[in-house]
Amino acid sequence: MAQNAAPAAPSLLCDGHGRAVRYVRLSVTDRCNLQCLYCCNEGKQTFIPHEKVLRYEEMARLIGVMTAMGVGKVRLTGGEPFVRKGCEELIWLLRRRFPLLDLRMTSNGTLLEPHIPLLRSAGVAAINLSLDSFDRATFARVTGRDLLPAVLASLDGLLRAGIRVKINAVAMRGVNDGQVDDFVHAVRSMPVDMRFIEFMPMGEGTLWKPEVFWPAAEIRAQIERRVRLFPVAADAPDGGPARMFAVQGGRGRVGFIAAMSCHFCASCNRMRLTSDGHLRTCLFDDKEYRLRGLLRNVRITDSDMACVVQRVCAVKPVGADILRKRHQGEAVAGKKMVGIGG
Ligand code: SAM
Repeated sequence: MAQNAAPAAPSLLCDGHGRAVRYVRLSVTDRCNLQCLYCCNEGKQTFIPHEKVLRYEEMARLIGVMTAMGVGKVRLTGGEPFVRKGCEELIWLLRRRFPLLDLRMTSNGTLLEPHIPLLRSAGVAAINLSLDSFDRATFARVTGRDLLPAVLASLDGLLRAGIRVKINAVAMRGVNDGQVDDFVHAVRSMPVDMRFIEFMPMGEGTLWKPEVFWPAAEIRAQIERRVRLFPVAADAPDGGPARMFAVQGGRGRVGFIAAMSCHFCASCNRMRLTSDGHLRTCLFDDKEYRLRGLLRNVRITDSDMACVVQRVCAVKPVGADILRKRHQGEAVAGKKMVGIGG
């Protein structure tokens, strides 16, 4: 081989089950201004110390390594992304460096409204807004803060700015199961995707227990008692976790993410990167691969990083197998969503 030959282009990311990995969920921070019943436990939270949190430049470098391997979609999540100082800087950094990247964000919407002009000009394709109830008291009970008006203002602002919105509600029996009329009203009146996420037993100390589980099939039946639903094809060519339905006479659509009762592991195309630089290939698998040390080692090149990412990706497990092995009533993973990046 010629001595000065260009390094080989990194190969496209693919796992040992033949799944192409094209999507990364990047946790901007593990800190959040809400304490949702499903996501973290009550009381004092422990956070990743500042020195272990990746700097924005480090995050962008890792995303660069991954886009060179075929990743085309990145979702910023957390924690609450807007809690971290300079989150706008990260959005612009990613947009400038990767103009074609499908860049999205998941937010609780409480701090989002002032950032709408930026989200629009940076071409953020869609926002997933976590909103588990349109009832103010229930919202406060679920999140620990009386901030529903701020979230509704963000929702309104996003729609007025023409940014696509998907509302995600974690389905909890005894909490928001009595509010189907509100959810139906939302899809009748707004051009949003209203998606119900089955409650997953992530980490100890959340509200999770079998009695709180409200399965997607039941939610669908309750909605169909109120309005006709028509199945629609998934937007993404590779599917996507939600089964989507158009609503008769409605401006929006309804979707169900049945991670517990009807897994979608066969089409999983994602990895997660925690804010302290751990790569997690399956939500249900606590095995994480530490990339921060490599990132901060001056001798490690991008192609070294690419080799590591490829090897990690090759052993991405099937989450449904992990779920099956768990004992009834136990958490499926030790870490809570707030620390992983939901
Ligand atoms: N702070 C942002 C937000 O609220 O959208 C992003 C992070 S938060 C972890 C993202 C979402 O993960 C939650 O709103 C919820 O939809 C989902 N989530 C968290 N814990 C969950 C659980 N135990 N089961 C199902 N979904 C969960």
